[in-house]
Amino acid sequence: MKLTKEQFQKDFKDRLHHKFSIETCDANSVELFQSLGSLIKTYISGDWREDRLEQQRNQQKIAFYFSIEFLPGKMLKSNLLNLGILDLVRDGLEELGLDFEQIAEAEKDMALGNGGLGRLASCFMDSLASTGLPGFGNGIRYKYGLFKQEFIDGYQVELPDAWLTTGNIWEVRKDHEKVDVCFEGHVWLKEDKQTGRLIPVYENPRILRAVPYDTAMVGFRNEQVNNLRLWDIEIPESEERKYYSINERRQIQDITGVLYPDDSTYEGRRLRLIQEYFFTSAGLQTIVKRFKKLNLPIETIHEKIAVHINDTHPSLAVAEFMRILVDEEGMEWSQAWLATVRTMSYTNHTIMSEALEKWPVDMVKQLIPRVYQIIEEIDHRFVTEMSTKFDGDLVERTRILRDGQVHMAHLAIIGSHSTNGVAKIHSDLLKDVVLHDFYVLYPERFNNKTNGIALRRWSQISNEPLSQVLDETIGESWRSDAEKIELLMAYKDDKNVQEKLAQAKKLNKQRLADYIFKTTGVKVSTNAIFDVQVKRLHAYKRQQLKLLHIMKLYLDLKQNPELEIPPRVFIFGAKAAPSYYYAKAVIKVINEVANLINNDKKIQDKLKVVFLPNYNVSLAEIIVPAADVSEQISLASKEASGTSNMKLMLNGAITVATLDGANIEIKDAVGEENIVIFGMDKDRVYQYYREQNYNAYEVYNSDLTLKRVLNTFVDGTIPNIVREGQELFDALIKYNDEYFTLADFHSYIEAQEKIDLLYQDKAKWNKMSLINTANGGRFSSDHTVKRYAEDIWGIVAMK
Ligand SMILES: *Cc1c(COP(=O)(O)O)cnc(C)c1O
Repeated sequence: MKLTKEQFQKDFKDRLHHKFSIETCDANSVELFQSLGSLIKTYISGDWREDRLEQQRNQQKIAFYFSIEFLPGKMLKSNLLNLGILDLVRDGLEELGLDFEQIAEAEKDMALGNGGLGRLASCFMDSLASTGLPGFGNGIRYKYGLFKQEFIDGYQVELPDAWLTTGNIWEVRKDHEKVDVCFEGHVWLKEDKQTGRLIPVYENPRILRAVPYDTAMVGFRNEQVNNLRLWDIEIPESEERKYYSINERRQIQDITGVLYPDDSTYEGRRLRLIQEYFFTSAGLQTIVKRFKKLNLPIETIHEKIAVHINDTHPSLAVAEFMRILVDEEGMEWSQAWLATVRTMSYTNHTIMSEALEKWPVDMVKQLIPRVYQIIEEIDHRFVTEMSTKFDGDLVERTRILRDGQVHMAHLAIIGSHSTNGVAKIHSDLLKDVVLHDFYVLYPERFNNKTNGIALRRWSQISNEPLSQVLDETIGESWRSDAEKIELLMAYKDDKNVQEKLAQAKKLNKQRLADYIFKTTGVKVSTNAIFDVQVKRLHAYKRQQLKLLHIMKLYLDLKQNPELEIPPRVFIFGAKAAPSYYYAKAVIKVINEVANLINNDKKIQDKLKVVFLPNYNVSLAEIIVPAADVSEQISLASKEASGTSNMKLMLNGAITVATLDGANIEIKDAVGEENIVIFGMDKDRVYQYYREQNYNAYEVYNSDLTLKRVLNTFVDGTIPNIVREGQELFDALIKYNDEYFTLADFHSYIEAQEKIDLLYQDKAKWNKMSLINTANGGRFSSDHTVKRYAEDIWGIVAMK
């Protein structure tokens, strides 16, 4: 956009005066941030309006991305960067004597997501706008985001994230677009005398009101502005009903109160189902209204609209769309079904069976009776049609209604034209194992779309030192075209460039070291290897394997204090679901191990362990650029894709990885010699499943090193973990180590010894690091959304 520094400074001061009636010198950073944010929103509003009008005028096909989570983090810098005024604003503010970083820091993270799933949705929002694609997000405006994590006595404590208390500067409440969503009551079908059609009659329904709050999704220097629409609930005051007790009001408001803090596990709670239907129905109702303004035949709705179901949470979209088309638009069932299947597409995010959503039939029937009737009809017709072509058992296994439950993934697959996994290995596992039955029914529906990351946030915004080296070395084309980072490959043997990259890394490590000292009081040296594992805490991600490695090094050093190993700082960031006791025990143990090691003088600072509280997007932006080693150590086959693996390699970290998720594609991108692979592959894992002959106790008992290390959990070596240490020990021995941690232990230790050797060869390490950065471009989510646009949604770029 065209803007001079002087104009900006004037606009900014005016805004502060109008908004708060104060001078810049009196304002605190929250007020400064809010003035700045509201000004930026004004700068955006023209393009935002214009793009919406243009979409209408051109009858542009739009992809509506339904996701129960969005995890954008802070938006100020991203918006400024994308508008092309980041430096101008920074300079302008500094000239006014203001600290830009401090102002940016005042923004609250928008943390309406648990982890990878929500972060992916936000990366896609950024990339859709940045590639000029008409995309539109639909989600929930939770009053409280993911809990804030603190450690007390080494234990995780969860505090509410009241992110809206000082207001959300980016959103716009769209009062005129509110819609009603209908729950409960009874529904029966009455024949319409004239047409002979069956019309649903609702008795005593509970009507809830959905109000949208829109946030601009600004494209990178292309004047494209898309929309992220988050739905909030309001008291549906009407002529018939005006009075609600405080209790009733609270109950209603609770519906959009909190984001469920479970990651990779399914929580069968009624309120969650209400949330799912609430935002899905509200979103679809608006979409159909919008389509009708185009005055096109309703049968062609799939030509103008694509609806994406991000994981199973919005799967009810299939039945709700049918309800709208049949009940409200009067379409014939078969025609409506055709349009629905062509409109919908679905992404599967996990093969973990505990995450597969299933709702009790009774609950669905009671809560959304009409939608349930439609699900029954879909299920019935599915069985009728498929039974003529396929084996009865197969059809029975793939039904939506089975064992008294509604299977959400089945609904999504049967009611859509595309089902994709999120990395090659994951998509293969879906076809071959997890969803094999469906693959037999609909082979043409299955495809892969490897995840990606919003490259701008994970380089230009969070890693300015690296960005500068890239500019100086390969020019600035990489800033708009991610694949251009590969130009860096031409300098892979250039000592000067390698050295500059190492210097940039050093700056980032210093920034992280300062942050670590400020938040934990632990002093770490930037000469040490910064070994990073950041992700949700989950047994399948195997933070416990990292712990075993740390304890082995500790024991080695205790035995031989002169042992020559390069110093390491182990850095963790992870939240555990509040009800996930094992994960919380792992947190406690890591914190106590940190206490033990960091305070042991004999270790001579060769090891430090740091668990930074409250891992979120903003913290990731500090940790990722500073990492030397990226730990991606899930049991092969369990991590669908991973995206922190991509962020870290782009930032020059060397990955220690199992052959899982996108790690495999990272290996293919950088070459085997620039990544450290260890452990079983998925075939070995599945062989154990088939043969049922994994015996953790035997592994433990036959390996003295492992035995010694594992015993530290229960023999008092680590203080204050009597209960938690036992819990870990039991998970690994008594309950036979569900994720084969012990089986991979040796191979993992060897991988880490390899890292030690490589790190001591500075030239080699720097070259490997450079090659990782140079090949990060292919994991840009710009690329990923283009594949979705072409292969699945059938949308084209506006810009
Ligand atoms: C990228 C990201 C994730 C995903 O991490 P994985 O290692 O892929 O599970 C989770 N949380 C935050 C805050 C992230 O930025």
